[in-house]
Amino acid sequence: MSSAAVPSTEVFAPPPRDCDGCPRLVEFRQRHRAAFTDWHNAPVPSFGPLEARLLIVGLAPGLRGANRTGRPFTGDYAGDLLYSTLLTFGLAEGVYRADPNDSLTLKDARIANAVRCVPPENKPLPAEFTTCRPFLRSEIAAMTNLRVFVALGKGAHDQTLRTLGVKSLARYPFIHGRLHELPDGRVLADSYHCSRYNTNTGRLTEAMFHDVFRAVADRLRQA
Ligand code: SF4
Repeated sequence: MSSAAVPSTEVFAPPPRDCDGCPRLVEFRQRHRAAFTDWHNAPVPSFGPLEARLLIVGLAPGLRGANRTGRPFTGDYAGDLLYSTLLTFGLAEGVYRADPNDSLTLKDARIANAVRCVPPENKPLPAEFTTCRPFLRSEIAAMTNLRVFVALGKGAHDQTLRTLGVKSLARYPFIHGRLHELPDGRVLADSYHCSRYNTNTGRLTEAMFHDVFRAVADRLRQA
């Protein structure tokens, strides 16, 4: 990563549009900038207020979703399920139209990705997680009201724990629906990723996803 891109641990600064931390992702980004000039094709900024008590962590932007539209989970199937669920549980308001210019806003919730640039085949490399981690770390540090994390998938679960400095990931195994009590008093809720693949294969149903967010909303009410 260029030194200019390294965020402060006290003040959250999102990555610059031309962050050069991950050569493979920069090359992928440049290729798509050339091919799809009207796409976002840059690090995708998080969505929702920094004052939120809930942070939903995804793995990385989807190629034709967030990487195209510039808003997390916007424009692909995963966003349809995620945002309808957030609306159901009072964590969003407005209308979701798969467009960053729709009227959707998040309430007491924010969405971030562990890796901010779209990776080939939705698979960031370990070095890319490490290089991008300071952005998530500084974002979490800036969210002073943060009480609950939701990890969408095992990759996001592991990266959230690593970002929080948890040494033994084995103490907190990824289990769909599990709410882990973290040493710092916060909670990490696990969910299978709300991808079309997971719902088509039956690994995740809308009811299962709603159960996770019902438990999260209950926990936020108690916090
Ligand atoms: S993934 Fe993160 S560190 Fe890597 S180039 Fe994108 S913004 Fe920079």
